[in-house]
Amino acid sequence: MINLINEFFPYIWPKGRVDIKSRIVLAFIILVFAKILTVLVPYSYKWATDALVGDNTVPPLIPIAILTPIMLIIAFGMGRILMVAFNQLRDAIFAKVGQNAVRQLGRLSFSHLHNLSLRFHLDRRTGALNRVVERGIKGIESIVRLAILNTIPTIFEFIFVGLILLIQFDWRYLLIVTITIIVYTFFTIKYSSLRIVYRKRMNSNDEDANNKSLDSLLNYETVKHFNNEKIEEKRFDESMSGYEQASIKTLTSLSFLNFGQTAIFTIGLTLCMVLSGYEVMSGEQTIGDFVLINALLIQLAIPLNFFGFIYREISQGITDIKSLFSILKIKPEITDKSDALSMDFNEAEITFKDVSFSYDGKRKILDNINFTIPSGASLAIVGPTGAGKSTISRLLFRFYDVSKGSIIINGKDVRDITQGSLRKNIGIVPQDTVLFNDTILYNLKYGKISSNEDEIWDVADRAQLSKLIKSFPEGMNTLVGERGLKLSGGEKQRVAIARTLLKNPPILVLDEATSALDTLTEREIKESLSSLAQKRTTIIIAHRLSTVVGANNILVIDKGKIVETGTHKQLLRKKGLYADMWSTQQTIQKAEETLKNVKPEYKKLLSH
Ligand code: ATP
Repeated sequence: MINLINEFFPYIWPKGRVDIKSRIVLAFIILVFAKILTVLVPYSYKWATDALVGDNTVPPLIPIAILTPIMLIIAFGMGRILMVAFNQLRDAIFAKVGQNAVRQLGRLSFSHLHNLSLRFHLDRRTGALNRVVERGIKGIESIVRLAILNTIPTIFEFIFVGLILLIQFDWRYLLIVTITIIVYTFFTIKYSSLRIVYRKRMNSNDEDANNKSLDSLLNYETVKHFNNEKIEEKRFDESMSGYEQASIKTLTSLSFLNFGQTAIFTIGLTLCMVLSGYEVMSGEQTIGDFVLINALLIQLAIPLNFFGFIYREISQGITDIKSLFSILKIKPEITDKSDALSMDFNEAEITFKDVSFSYDGKRKILDNINFTIPSGASLAIVGPTGAGKSTISRLLFRFYDVSKGSIIINGKDVRDITQGSLRKNIGIVPQDTVLFNDTILYNLKYGKISSNEDEIWDVADRAQLSKLIKSFPEGMNTLVGERGLKLSGGEKQRVAIARTLLKNPPILVLDEATSALDTLTEREIKESLSSLAQKRTTIIIAHRLSTVVGANNILVIDKGKIVETGTHKQLLRKKGLYADMWSTQQTIQKAEETLKNVKPEYKKLLSH
């Protein structure tokens, strides 16, 4: 607990933020005033009551002018208004402290998540991770708010009330109130802990139902393809039924908690009042004293009533903050060396030297890979699916470090270069382009945030995209939908090509860059891609061998090993794996072309 407080204290008492610190001090001063007033208001009630029955119990310190009973009643009313005003002022002043902590922690978590490595993100569900962060941030806000604005003031109030009971009356009242509050607190904590279990169950069922509904809606088309709406509904309803049961338990247990709390407090209150009643009858206390005890205790009951809720929120907040801090403590797998160089290349020679790699330390994905791509040259990597082609590009980007060997750019190991400068110099058109749920303009500009409209239209032209954009009523401002789903696979890939053109890096990775395009568009784009590739060191990863014919060198890999290298012609002559793949693909392509020319009525027959 102390560790946790140490960890989140800097967010509440931030270094160099005099404004925040002075707000905390001011809120505390107002809090003390508000609490003094809270215990003084019942006094005006007592004095008014005594004055009404003809007793003057107002201490001589108070000015004579307000001695009349009516003035005392008005003072009571004004005191109450002032008390609320102080409390609200305190909350308003304090609001910035909590919200500042939320913002600081939110920003830190966000940048930390971006710093964590690809492996971390692939291992976790993004939705769940987002929730941990969201809850942790809210947790710090609710702890700060509830502890400082509620728990601490209540403790103050209890101390003030206790002192009054002891000084004005005697120790028996203090004893009854202390025992009442101890029993009250004990009961609330015990019972609230039990309720936390129900609440957790309720939350996990709610989360489950949410996930199912989200997953089902994301897979809308698949659900329709398989006509499985009823099954999806049943799965969702099962989670909802768990939620229903847990919610009922949560609500019924709340009624019991409320009843128990009121019963315990009322017993304590009644005992004090009985004691006071006796003393009024024996003439030791005035009726005003009887009223004062009642008013003081009833006022104390108000914050105590929230104690169950506060206990639950604070313990939930602590759990949430702990989970968030455990994520914040994870060290990124890939980090820059303290003396890492920030490099800017105009041209780049890339060498893979004895590179071996495994994702999990058990299964070897790349085994002793060696190649050099001279500056400005192109290297194509081909091979069966799962051979390790895309892994080579992930290593070049340094999403992972090699298990053995080294990757060298212009004589420098990538581990000696800052990740920022390394990635700035590599552009990629990936296999699966995912776009931001924003406009086409935003997605294109992502390649170079500072680019102007002319530059953007220029790359859109070069990627055969401008005609398409002009055909949309909203033009560049067309929204592309979640993950870019409103664009076809080929259109998304053209956006990816355009933004890489905008980035204009000296190293280019084309990972199946034209796989989603039709033959005609592919031919058109290939021209712009090859003109783009001319000045750059290019790695082309491809399934379709027709796209790599012109590469300066071709690497054939199978099961993580280089099995053949050479130009297209040399490889055909070798009559190895490449030649086999080439002839299979040629046969398939010819068959497809023949099929295209078959009349539709025969096509139907063929499909039977
Ligand atoms: P394709 O042509 O189908 O894209 P590829 O040759 O590009 O295949 P890679 O994506 O490099 O293949 O994957 C090589 C192997 O590594 C595959 O067997 C894959 O299952 C495995 N692999 C890829 N990513 C991970 C990962 N993050 N963790 C564990 N194994 C992985």
